[in-house]
Amino acid sequence: MSAILLDVDGVLHVSGHPILGGAKATARLREMGHALRFVTNNTTHSRSALAEEIRSFGVELEDRELQTTPIAAAHALRGKRVLALTMPAIVEDLEGLELVGENADAVLLGGADESFETNQVFSYYNLARAFAELQDGAELYCLHKNRWWQTSRGALLDAGAFVAGLEYAAEQEATVLGKPSAAYFAAALDALDYEPEQTWMVGDDIEADVAGASAFGLRTVLVRTGKFREEALEEVTVRPDGVIDSIAALPQWLEAHP
Ligand SMILES: [Mg+2]
Repeated sequence: MSAILLDVDGVLHVSGHPILGGAKATARLREMGHALRFVTNNTTHSRSALAEEIRSFGVELEDRELQTTPIAAAHALRGKRVLALTMPAIVEDLEGLELVGENADAVLLGGADESFETNQVFSYYNLARAFAELQDGAELYCLHKNRWWQTSRGALLDAGAFVAGLEYAAEQEATVLGKPSAAYFAAALDALDYEPEQTWMVGDDIEADVAGASAFGLRTVLVRTGKFREEALEEVTVRPDGVIDSIAALPQWLEAHP
C-alpha cells in the first residue's frame, strides 16, 4: 500500500471538464487500499468550493483530504499583517491573517484565473503598492510561481510572471508556499503519516509536480493530460518514474509497479 498525492488541475479536470475515467480510477485506488491526498496549487477557489467541484466530477473526497495553497499560507503567515494580491474567493481560507493595505509584514501573491478579476488583482496600482511594501521591509511570499496553466482555450499566463517581476524590482526572492516547495510536500505526508519512499506524486506539471516531488524523495508519475507537453519531457533533468496517458491508467500502472 502506498500514499498517492494527486494533483487536481490537469489531472482530474481541465477548465472544469472532467478527465475521462478519473472518478473510476480514484475509487479503484481507494479500493486497492492506497491513502489519497489531493494536492493542488489552485489559488482561485476556497477549499470547500474546490472540494465541491471535484465531487461534481464523481470523485469522492472529504474537504480535509484536499490540500490547498491558501491554507498553507494561513499556516505560514498566521498573525502577520499581509498585503494580499489574491483572488477574493480564497480570502475565507486566509484565516488568522490580518489583511492590510499598508504597513504590511508580508506581501502575498496568489495565482491568476480566467475571470476579469485577475485584471484588478494584478493591476499596476496593486503591483506598485506591493513593491512599495517590499521596499519598506515586507517579505515576499507567493502561493505558487507557475509560469502558465492549461485552459480549454489554451495556455494562459499565470502569476509567476508577476512574482518574478516583483522579485526583480525589489531584489528579493519570494518564498513559494505551494508546489514545488518542500514544505508543501512535507505537510501532505504529515497529514497521511507516510514516508517519502512510500509515496507517489501524480501530476501533469513537470516542474511543480515531478521535479518538486522528486527532490523531496517521492516517486512520480506524469500524466499526458492538462499542461503535459512532449517537448517538456525531453528537456527535463528530472525524469518521472512513469508516464501514463491519463489518470484512468493509474490503478493498472501501480499494480504493475508496486
Ligand atoms: Mg496540474
